[in-house]
Amino acid sequence: MISLPLSSAAFKKARELMPGGVNSPVRSYARVECTPPFIASAKGSHITDIDGHTYIDYVGSWGPMILGHAHPAVIHAIQEAAGRGTSYGAPTLLESELAALIMSLIPSIEKIRLVSSGTEATMSALRAARGFTGREKILKFAGCYHGHGDSLLVKAGSGAATFGEPDSSGITKGTAKDTLTVPYNDIPAFRAMMEKEGPETAAVIVEPVAGNMGLVLPDPAFLQVLRTETEKYGTVLIFDEVMCGFRTALHGAQSAYGIHPDMTCLGKIIGGGLPAAAYGGKKEIMNCIAPEGSVYQAGTLSGNPLAVTAGLETLRQMTADPGFTDKLSDKTSALLDGWKEAAQKAGVPVQLHQSGSMFCLFFNSRPVCNYEDACASDSHAFNAWFLSMLEQGIYLAPSPFETLFMSAAHCDKDIEQTVAAAHKAMESAAGAMQ
Ligand SMILES: *Cc1c(COP(=O)(O)O)cnc(C)c1O
Repeated sequence: MISLPLSSAAFKKARELMPGGVNSPVRSYARVECTPPFIASAKGSHITDIDGHTYIDYVGSWGPMILGHAHPAVIHAIQEAAGRGTSYGAPTLLESELAALIMSLIPSIEKIRLVSSGTEATMSALRAARGFTGREKILKFAGCYHGHGDSLLVKAGSGAATFGEPDSSGITKGTAKDTLTVPYNDIPAFRAMMEKEGPETAAVIVEPVAGNMGLVLPDPAFLQVLRTETEKYGTVLIFDEVMCGFRTALHGAQSAYGIHPDMTCLGKIIGGGLPAAAYGGKKEIMNCIAPEGSVYQAGTLSGNPLAVTAGLETLRQMTADPGFTDKLSDKTSALLDGWKEAAQKAGVPVQLHQSGSMFCLFFNSRPVCNYEDACASDSHAFNAWFLSMLEQGIYLAPSPFETLFMSAAHCDKDIEQTVAAAHKAMESAAGAMQ
């Protein structure tokens, strides 16, 4: 087990101050039964804890750090912007620049609103869809995460397609009952639900590439059916690309799969490591938002000049190099090839998934197409793998239900080192397999 005396002491103190010692649950390492390393700094592909360990980082702050940590151009831009003041609560030129850049990359967005978190983006998009259609129900897919808004923290009950039950205490049954849930990639269940509830359903929200149950890829036909069925019933189709936007492909998962959603939610990368997110889509829907329309949504720090600057610089760096996305994708494939070989050598059955610079490994001998499949993976093997990798200086997400991220800062040497560590970690996983 890795030695983390300073982090352990810090965690003990933090637990008295904050629920679980953290400000977002997954950071507590509860699932892997290990002290979370407290982080002191990060640079490029590496992250350093207060105990003096430096790791190769594949968490990347859960997605935003696509250029790597402390990218010189991004840091410079933030420092310059900070000198001009950190928040005005008034319109700026920067906001229009970021809006125009995002819309040039994702043309299905005809009008956009900047917010501060992915949670806000999805909540607001749903409110807009409800205002636009005058309908109350929404439909989501089991295992997709859209932030912690009340109507989205709903789990599927038993049965293929259901009315939701709250997935968290503090959420009313009334709220949950307006959320319909269907298994991901399940075309017949979706069609059946739409046949019954389509005319009452304001929106269908989906991660077009699902990254919050591990990484689960969509059946292209599934996304196509979402489009045709929502069109048939006048239901708003919302792509939550908070994670996969700019990762599956530069122009979003919607370009990779050739689907035009009515609305899109973005986050993570568009803040370049500072809090920024956005929702946007068809003009007639976005014109329902205040002050133009009657759907209220506001934010003191929305379009914050530092966050917008970091996001703009990040997207500019990405678009300046035409090979940016392919290079990241190739590095990710090379890493997964190495992991595959390590798993085969150790006799560990795994499913390796990739979408651009997003990737994930399931300890599972069967294909993983939805949340139920993901849950059937071997959690003991995962824990052994995770702890061995951490000890060898590889920083992975401490849960089998998370996606990993490649950055532009990861070099061939990082990949080689990560593959070498995987050989040893797979032996540990083999020993722990159920
Ligand atoms: C991270 C994420 C969110 C929530 O974003 P926050 O900024 O954490 O509120 C929403 N949807 C998806 C797909 C995400 O990955």
